[in-house]
Amino acid sequence: MVPLLDIARVHAGIEADIEAALVQTFRSGRYILGPEVTAFEKEIAAWLGVPYAVGVSSGTDALVAALQALGVGPGDEVITTPFTFIATADAVLRLGGVPRFVDVDPQTLLLDPNLVAAAVTDRTRGIIPVHLFGQCVDMDALRAVAAHRDLWILEDVAQALGARWGDSAAGTLGTAGCYSFFPSKNLGALGDGGLVTTADPDLADRIRWIRAHGSRRKYHHDIPGGNYRLDALQAAVLRVKLPNLETWNAARAERAERYGRRLRDAGLVEDGRVRPLGLQPGSTHVYHQYVVRVRDRDGLQRTLQARGIGHAIYYPAPLHLQAFLGEHTGRPGDHPVAETACGEVLALPIFPGLTDDEQDEAVAALADHVSAVNT
Ligand SMILES: *Cc1c(COP(=O)(O)O)cnc(C)c1O
Repeated sequence: MVPLLDIARVHAGIEADIEAALVQTFRSGRYILGPEVTAFEKEIAAWLGVPYAVGVSSGTDALVAALQALGVGPGDEVITTPFTFIATADAVLRLGGVPRFVDVDPQTLLLDPNLVAAAVTDRTRGIIPVHLFGQCVDMDALRAVAAHRDLWILEDVAQALGARWGDSAAGTLGTAGCYSFFPSKNLGALGDGGLVTTADPDLADRIRWIRAHGSRRKYHHDIPGGNYRLDALQAAVLRVKLPNLETWNAARAERAERYGRRLRDAGLVEDGRVRPLGLQPGSTHVYHQYVVRVRDRDGLQRTLQARGIGHAIYYPAPLHLQAFLGEHTGRPGDHPVAETACGEVLALPIFPGLTDDEQDEAVAALADHVSAVNT
């Protein structure tokens, strides 16, 4: 048995600190926003090197609140990738906007900045790059297009907290960044949580108002908003966990490198039977997921299932072909790189504390399967 993720191992050594933070917050009687959230916002802003951080209720709500603060409304087009989690595009739709998809790079499966310019229309307001699996989209190329066409960039950093593009943290390169603290993310809460970062003080203010029903002062509502507040209990846990994130991300990268070595040693990479995703030059990688591509992916899935090896498919279907888009649903062939990838990708177990033996077991199962299929 190899788990896809074992959160207990991630928490090893800091359980007592987490429990103490929970008890202290419980006894404080302050459960919504308050001093724990304010302190967490300060600490993570400093950690990222960004002027403003606003704690919110989830990564999804971070996207909705940020898009609303950026002024997205009916008919506004937002360019993004079809190869991502639903929340990225659904947030646009919820505000009446229209997600316009462009295909991904065949090596990295990240949004291809070279395709963005051709997708811009006079209704286009901005771009949401997704730093998928833990590495950054080519932000130099993307910022050049955005500047040329006067578009904002909202980074979806749900999978890449701690990754860097050059000297800057992912999420601090565009107009704003949206993060998730879903328990399985690299920095996970004990429930839902999220964050928006920006260097723009007016945008930060608007997001703070939107997070609390559009109110600047209690019971005075200047703009429409929602209940997008971060819980004090989650903030308290995140404050305990944040100082460990760099170590955890380094452990993930070390495990990923070891996968690469093992797969090459087994001769699986050379002839293309197993294709690890390419690295994006200019970015570091925090390996939220370690993803390989194989032919007969569904068969491999059955083999791993039978051998008790944790795995997941991110993502089995591209967003542009899905019904939630209604009249904006696309057609097969619109974004062929993403469509092909959906049939080939498979994520292997990766987390701090994953052992050598477990990795070797996963690689052995992979090797057995692809050898059987390819002979
Ligand atoms: C997890 C995730 C989200 C949503 O975050 P939640 O906290 O689960 O709402 C958004 N975008 C991407 C790319 C994600 O992986």
